[in-house]
Amino acid sequence: MDLASYIRNIPDFPRPGIQFKDITTLLKDRDAFRETIDRLVELFRNQNVELIVGIEARGFIIGAPLAYHLGCGFVPVRKKGKLPAATLAKTYDLEYGSATLEIHRDAIQRGQRVLIVDDLLATGGTTKAVCEMVEELGGNIVGVGFVIELEALKGREKLTPHRVYSLVRL
Ligand code: AMP
Repeated sequence: MDLASYIRNIPDFPRPGIQFKDITTLLKDRDAFRETIDRLVELFRNQNVELIVGIEARGFIIGAPLAYHLGCGFVPVRKKGKLPAATLAKTYDLEYGSATLEIHRDAIQRGQRVLIVDDLLATGGTTKAVCEMVEELGGNIVGVGFVIELEALKGREKLTPHRVYSLVRL
């Protein structure tokens, strides 16, 4: 199945010049959604993943069914102000301005094998910030997984030395 054909390109969203990769067209197709999760399950089945860390919001849609199938736990990384218990926060630079993400301080036990998941790898800034948070809490990052990788933006290099996995390279 050609998963790329289920991803819709929206020019100039949310700003002029951005080619937005819309996965809602993939998610609403039962075969394409199932195939996406199944392929990720195959990539990580033998890696003894203990926790999936999903990045709000589309990382939840991909990460939760993946955690269910791998038989591991799921930890949300959320935008500032949403998590109720004590958090570790990280502010990182975006193209314009900055953003802050949070994770519960007690979400990860030292040495746990963690897979970080999001829908799309662009510059890698978001995922790099999440990698730093996971490591600060003592997690052992076994990989970083995406449905889509925008190869020209070289996000993979920013995530060195972590192992980067993606299903569709655009
Ligand atoms: P980055 O930090 O540049 O790797 O951006 C990654 C985050 O921004 C992910 O959560 C993506 O969902 C979102 N994102 C960045 N660029 C795009 C794009 N062209 N289309 C869809 N989502 C994007």
